[in-house]
Amino acid sequence: MYTALYRAERPETFEQVIGQEHIVRVLRNQVATDTVSHAYLFCGTRGTGKTTVARILAKAVNCTDEDVHGRPCGKCASCQAIKNGTFVDVYEMDAASNRGIDDARDLRDSTGYAPAAGRKKVYIIDEAHMLTQAAFNALLKTLEEPPADVIMILATTDPQKLPQTILSRCQRLDFRRMNHQLLMEHMKGICEKRGINITEGALGVLAANADGSVRDGLSLLEQCLATGEKEITRELALEYLGVASQDFFIDLVNKIINNKVGEALLGINQLIDSGKDTKQLTKDILAHYRNLMLVKYIENPENMLNLSSENVEALRKQSSYMEMGNINQAIMTLAQAINDGRYSTQPRILLELAIVKLSTMDSHFVSEPIKFDAEQKARAVAEAKSATQTPASATKPIVEEEAQEKNVVPNKEDRVILWNRICDRAGQVRKSVGTLRKKADLVEVGENTFTLKADTGATKRRLEEAEQILSEAATMIVGRPLRMKCHINDTPDEDEGDKAMMEALSKMFGDTLNVK
Ligand SMILES: [Zn+2]
Repeated sequence: MYTALYRAERPETFEQVIGQEHIVRVLRNQVATDTVSHAYLFCGTRGTGKTTVARILAKAVNCTDEDVHGRPCGKCASCQAIKNGTFVDVYEMDAASNRGIDDARDLRDSTGYAPAAGRKKVYIIDEAHMLTQAAFNALLKTLEEPPADVIMILATTDPQKLPQTILSRCQRLDFRRMNHQLLMEHMKGICEKRGINITEGALGVLAANADGSVRDGLSLLEQCLATGEKEITRELALEYLGVASQDFFIDLVNKIINNKVGEALLGINQLIDSGKDTKQLTKDILAHYRNLMLVKYIENPENMLNLSSENVEALRKQSSYMEMGNINQAIMTLAQAINDGRYSTQPRILLELAIVKLSTMDSHFVSEPIKFDAEQKARAVAEAKSATQTPASATKPIVEEEAQEKNVVPNKEDRVILWNRICDRAGQVRKSVGTLRKKADLVEVGENTFTLKADTGATKRRLEEAEQILSEAATMIVGRPLRMKCHINDTPDEDEGDKAMMEALSKMFGDTLNVK
């Protein structure tokens, strides 16, 4: 028989529960000292293990193993029967599907009888916030005068919807969202058991999309396992899940802040054409901007954002060169698009308009844009105008135009400014790269490459080590993909020789001689 992965991997004992140590410790201690409460309220977002822990507790109070610290053992007849759902003294009810008063009344009536097979009767009510008022009233009678051998466990994602009279009679335990690292390790272990190789990148994609829910994480993993592949890579995970990873949003925002209207529109259109829901996509872009805002102010936002430290680092990098005003503006614009989209049959056009608006905003960078940005900006505004008129059809020709466009070859003054900005940004990623500023010059900016001239072989090697960081910085600032090339300055021209001499003079005389 087919069993869903999250069921097959469901923890059967307290030791197997991951990420909820604070709750497990309390419950194990209560079981061992026979001080279990009459009523519990398990709170937490979906897929964090509320009903799983409720069942483990039901086993623990009925387990016949002699070692009270080891309960539930998972092996005795009671544990096995509860696992198989055949134990007569454990009742489960899903309030979302049984909202009526009858179930609660049945429940109240049945609590009057002693347990038939075990020591305690355990009632597990899932989605307790969905109970009707009448059902709550029926339940309250039991909670007010709890029989000694009855345990009531209410599980809910929405505790504030429960009446105060119920809340005040329960011991409340809050389940945490699963952090990425734990979930990744858990999924990796599951794959290893099945002889499947899964890359860190794939685990990261799954964990990011599980959003702190073990159940969601495992059902995403299950989809990947169903492909029958022996190796699950990041690409495979993305392809089969049809999800947009954080990389997509980082890339999209880079296009937006570099005024690449056409490319930004193409990016979202490709995603929508591949089946992504437009309204969800708009929300996801908004969520990305929110993350960019939060990382500006919060030092360790991993838990708050439920993101891996790698994802947070990427966010922080992007956020560091964006102005708060622009992030704020983007959040307002997208929130408006979501709001308008609720009543619109054309949410796609609203999203496209929002993207056009954001891509044509001014002053996206923390530092002043360099001179030749002005030309790009003028072009972006022109693009935006044509894109606004016919967003869908206008995107393609724009990109073709861009590809045919001549290189922007900045003059020497601009190259110095550009090199300084590349060093500034690269220095934010790795401090030591910033110190190479004086040891190399930017001599050329081509269509796909930029060329550096290093003063010595040692500098060239250091630049090449930092190639990725420097290329990313240049790409970000210039607004198109640029790869670094590097030469040693072995044939200094007159200009360079002059500069070298002035530097030597400057060193000899220090600040007393104004050689610069
Ligand atoms: Zn047992």
